[in-house]
Amino acid sequence: MQTIYYDLRDTKGQQKEIEDKISAAAKILREGGLVGIPTETVYGLGADGSNPAAVRRIFEVKGRPQDNPLILHVTGAQWLPRYCVDIPPVAYTLARKFWPGPLTMILKRQPGVPDETTAGLDTVGIRCPNHPVTLAIIREAGMAIAAPSANTSGRPSCTTAQDVMEDVGGRVDMVVDGGPCTVGVESTVLDLTCEPPRLLRPGGLPVEDIERLIGHVDVDRAVVASLGPEERPGAPGMKYRHYAPKAPVTVVTGAPMNSAREIERRAGPGAGVICFDEYAHLFPQQLVHSLGPSNDKQLQAQRVFEALRSFDATGVTEIFAQCPDNRGLGLAVSNRLKKAAGFHVIDADSQRIILGITGGTGAGKTSALDALRSLGGTVIDCDAVYHAVLSGSEDFKNAINEKFPGVFSQEGQLNRRKLGQEVFAKRDRLDQLNAIVFRFLIPELERLVAAQEGLCALDAVNLFESGLDRLCDRTIAVTAPTELRVKRIMGRDRISEQYARLRINAQKQDEYYRGKCDCELNNATESPEEFRKDALLFFERLVESIREEKRHG
Ligand code: AMP
Ligand code: MG
Repeated sequence: MQTIYYDLRDTKGQQKEIEDKISAAAKILREGGLVGIPTETVYGLGADGSNPAAVRRIFEVKGRPQDNPLILHVTGAQWLPRYCVDIPPVAYTLARKFWPGPLTMILKRQPGVPDETTAGLDTVGIRCPNHPVTLAIIREAGMAIAAPSANTSGRPSCTTAQDVMEDVGGRVDMVVDGGPCTVGVESTVLDLTCEPPRLLRPGGLPVEDIERLIGHVDVDRAVVASLGPEERPGAPGMKYRHYAPKAPVTVVTGAPMNSAREIERRAGPGAGVICFDEYAHLFPQQLVHSLGPSNDKQLQAQRVFEALRSFDATGVTEIFAQCPDNRGLGLAVSNRLKKAAGFHVIDADSQRIILGITGGTGAGKTSALDALRSLGGTVIDCDAVYHAVLSGSEDFKNAINEKFPGVFSQEGQLNRRKLGQEVFAKRDRLDQLNAIVFRFLIPELERLVAAQEGLCALDAVNLFESGLDRLCDRTIAVTAPTELRVKRIMGRDRISEQYARLRINAQKQDEYYRGKCDCELNNATESPEEFRKDALLFFERLVESIREEKRHG
């Protein structure tokens, strides 16, 4: 199907021509067609709200879930009684102050409003958009336009007519270009069928502005958190993973300097980064999309969807986003980012400290970790996590078995020895194994680390090869003179001197760890008690300096 594109960005030009285009759009709507319409929030995909067949087409074109209602767009509060009943006076108070504007009110519906528009609810969402072109089209059509955002379901909303053409071009009758959206996030949805009114979706009108006019407003839990499988949000649309670009998104909250640093630590080269202007220079190797200055939330709202969309045309495999605080428009911006991330959120202000501990056998890693435990730290043993993940994942086992046939017994038990022989001294085979292990292990370790609140150590031999060092505030090499290591592992593992040397030589040497890690804990004493004391002091000082650094950003 051919989509007609009308450019109405400039409405000061040829009046006759503009009126003709508006009449043409209105005619399409009256005849049951679909029109992409500009509003100040985001572009909408409009149809005659009283025509069930036309409204059904919106759902088809967007791939929108049937239970997600649309919003009726009108030109003013005088339309309310046509579509709503039991209208409380506060609806008129709000309309007087905020319409036309980014406020959708949820009210009891008139029986005449089709189920298709309200998704079968006995309420209806209604708003008056602040855009001259769409207001003119509604007036000319003489009916309320039912419209959701014009994006295909699940994608970031459209803030330009080009976005709309990209998403639904060829499947709708017309797209009207009214220029880029000035607000940039969807309307604020406020339920007026309860007392006090309830914020169902944060949007272009800050809830503080509403509260200044009508007093306290409750906030639906879905606005700030991801809901459990049994919970239902007030606005059905809030339960869907929304606004998502193709690559997975991690949102980082906290003071801007802290969140920028946290992203700097985590984002590998080639990652996508959404950040405030002040911090863009921290990411020379990443693909950066700036949201504007950290104190300009209006600009952040305008840019948030464009930022999320922009990465889809690139090859980035992960996206990190700096998140504003929840005040004013920040609540809507942060909600859109968090939903895009499936609520995968990291708080850079938390007092979490992650230390990566590595080093060769016999150097004293175990004693160092004991010292950390006595400081209240948690130790994540990456080797143990590897075995737990492996035993629970058929995909993981299959991936190993494919490359290393025969290392599993009939019962699915891994023969570690056999696998060890396969990779021992064969560099490329070891690399192949590591690639598989890291692929399955890293997401689980990331989850474990994200769940930590205080001091935590990652005990990992392959701290750098796996990329786990990126999760750490500091990496620590535990080192010791070779002769001491030989003696220790001879005693500990009851092995010959020759075999002890062989094992030590098969591993990376202290120079490697020293070169890679942020700091070194050298264990040159023959007394375990003395080393424990050294290690305690070392970690106490280290933790104190990291805390200090986090406090001052
Ligand atoms: P969209 O503009 O595409 O985000 O879709 C409209 C939004 O308004 C969705 O999140 C809906 O869940 C919400 N909405 C529309 N009508 C109602 C209603 N009657 N009750 C609650 N939420 C509604
Ligand atoms: Mg939408």
